[in-house]
Amino acid sequence: MARAESAEATLAEVVRLVANELVAEVCSIYLLRAGEVLELFATQGLNPSAVHRTRLRVGEGLVGDIAAHGRAMALADAQAHPQFAYRPETGEEIYHSLAGVPIVRAGRVLGVLVVQNRTRRQYDEEEVETLQTIAMVLAELVSAGNIVSPNEVQQVDGLGLLPLRVDGVQLTPGVSIGRAVLHEPRIVIQRVVAEDTAQEQQRFQDAVHGVREDVDRMLEAHDMQSGEQREILETFRMFVDDRGWMERVREAIVSGLTAEAGVQRAFDDVRARLGQSTDPYIRERLSDLQDLSNRLLLRLTGRVAVDPASLPDDMIVVARDMGPAELLDYDRTRLRGVVLEEGSALSHVAIVARALDIPVVGRAPDVLSRVEAGDSIVVDGDNAQVLVRPAEDVLQGVYAAIEARTERRRKYAALRDLPSVTRNQAPISLHMNAGLLIDMQHLHDTGADGVGLYRTEIPFMVRSEFPDVDAQAWLYGRVLDLADGRPVTFRTLDVGGDKVLPYVGAFGDENPAMGWRAIRIGLDRPAMLRGQLRALVQAANGRPLSIMFPMIADVGELMSARKLLELELDRAKRRGVTLPERLRVGVMFEVPALAWQLDSLLPHVDFLSVGTNDLLQFLFAADRGNSRLAGRYDSLSPALLRLLHFVVEKTRPAGVDLAVCGEMAGRPVEALALLAVGVRNLSMSPGAIGPVKAMIRSLDLGGATGFMTSALSQPDRPLRETLRLFAADHAIEI
Ligand code: PEP
Ligand code: MG
Repeated sequence: MARAESAEATLAEVVRLVANELVAEVCSIYLLRAGEVLELFATQGLNPSAVHRTRLRVGEGLVGDIAAHGRAMALADAQAHPQFAYRPETGEEIYHSLAGVPIVRAGRVLGVLVVQNRTRRQYDEEEVETLQTIAMVLAELVSAGNIVSPNEVQQVDGLGLLPLRVDGVQLTPGVSIGRAVLHEPRIVIQRVVAEDTAQEQQRFQDAVHGVREDVDRMLEAHDMQSGEQREILETFRMFVDDRGWMERVREAIVSGLTAEAGVQRAFDDVRARLGQSTDPYIRERLSDLQDLSNRLLLRLTGRVAVDPASLPDDMIVVARDMGPAELLDYDRTRLRGVVLEEGSALSHVAIVARALDIPVVGRAPDVLSRVEAGDSIVVDGDNAQVLVRPAEDVLQGVYAAIEARTERRRKYAALRDLPSVTRNQAPISLHMNAGLLIDMQHLHDTGADGVGLYRTEIPFMVRSEFPDVDAQAWLYGRVLDLADGRPVTFRTLDVGGDKVLPYVGAFGDENPAMGWRAIRIGLDRPAMLRGQLRALVQAANGRPLSIMFPMIADVGELMSARKLLELELDRAKRRGVTLPERLRVGVMFEVPALAWQLDSLLPHVDFLSVGTNDLLQFLFAADRGNSRLAGRYDSLSPALLRLLHFVVEKTRPAGVDLAVCGEMAGRPVEALALLAVGVRNLSMSPGAIGPVKAMIRSLDLGGATGFMTSALSQPDRPLRETLRLFAADHAIEI
């Protein structure tokens, strides 16, 4: 009672303040009650006796209309509006103007906030915004159950639900539709103080044992062909055995806490210490620890996890963040997508989701409080957005997009076994870029000729410590096994810049893209680079090996790197390791200065691979990660194309292979331009191979080369539009 009275008093105070602030004679709050009824709960200006008496159906009158459509309204002459419904008990006939906004939470309309004036007043945008802000606060009050008890609030399905779009970032691509499952690991602890400490220690011990068994079962149950998935779960299991953490829990129990309170305390301590960290590695460890704590708490409190059978067949899991083991707990045959409030593309959960081919949108703000379990949701990883309770027409559009995507996949899959040749029979090598073992499966689905760029730093970035030579050799050996005879070009570590190793930390460079990174670190820390080269030679174990050095800016750097490689080859020979059957050494062409050193560089390399991502940023002095510069300099500029043409002309007579492995190679129009300046080898993300191959097979290379030669002799302007027109005129699929 007391609670209800104080809530009524709060509402009365709110309407008084709003009326004052907006200089309105009337301010009223209507709340939605069971039976689709909007009831007047508080008013300043209307007859006080109308409170709790005046009721409108949703859709009835202007207030009902605001609730039904969930949108604001501002009318200078409200009485002239066809929806106006007069209620004599309120005494509102003297008020002409009206502005009202819905009170909405988690996409549900909970009521309406209205102001009225006698004069025919035009409410401005700012006033309506003020009302909306106040309505937001009211929504929190109402949904906390302090005003209307939750079972009296409107619960009819479908009513008051508003569609919502939440923008986030793509963690994994793809689009899917399903129903929301709120992943809710928070567990309330009832018993905090222990009576029998020894018994609590035993309970803790049993719970740890149980969780360890669960993880083991998971390792057996899921097909763990992929190294990273297995490794992630194994790391997680090691976590379960982590002595430091267990010791903390034991100490908490000794101090008199129950086992569950001890687990919670130990987790809270770690979170308090590390929770503010923006370091993605630390955040990842925290979410692993949260995952572990929740598993222990579930066991200790005897609370059963949600019965998996009760979950929908098309689950979209919505969570603040989650660990990889938590994701694998869901039945993968029914899992359609994941939405996270946090998360990064390199988080373990994203890596596992990518392997399962499930779209994930991360950093979706407040999504947990805006979605209800069972809501229909679209996870659109391709456009980095989440559509909650989409309207039927939007849904139809999404179905069409999914269908078109499937159709495209079918079409490109059909191209898989067809040769990558132009219409005039010129062969073009198509390779894919990879960075994790799980990517290797795409060699098979795409029919790529090999891996043109294996970014070795990516596996380094998802690990908890620098891998030793044996661990690296195992990994590279697996890559070569999975490539099954197709060539793989391993690029040595390209860390530094924005690619920070969690166990090394940032270097504090003021201009990191041009800082201490890639080969510069490798040459300054030769033990690290030699370790990697040793692992590569060991992994090849007599098979062909192709090694590429990143960010070479000066021929001397290549010579030094080659010297380290020679030392490793000698060492391998001395120790009886079988040397690679064929060794190819190349460099990334990313730094423009290399263009004027080609004469001295080319005799020392077998191939050159152009990293257009970095080359463009250095050529135009434009940070590749700066969204304000995105699109400012076109990759189809004569400056870049002339430079590439120059490199083609230099490498060809020298017998040095030339490839392009930056993102540009994977976009059909850009790939067309690259072929037209003479490039014959492209390496790209696996998804791009189908579209680029379709372009190649529809292209007459002679025509494109002639077109490019004349276009590059014209005054400078980007060639994007002219190339598009050229492609359209010549039926080239771009
Ligand atoms: C490039 O710079 O184009 C490239 C392929 O390397 P990364 O994107 O890994 O820097
Ligand atoms: Mg690069």
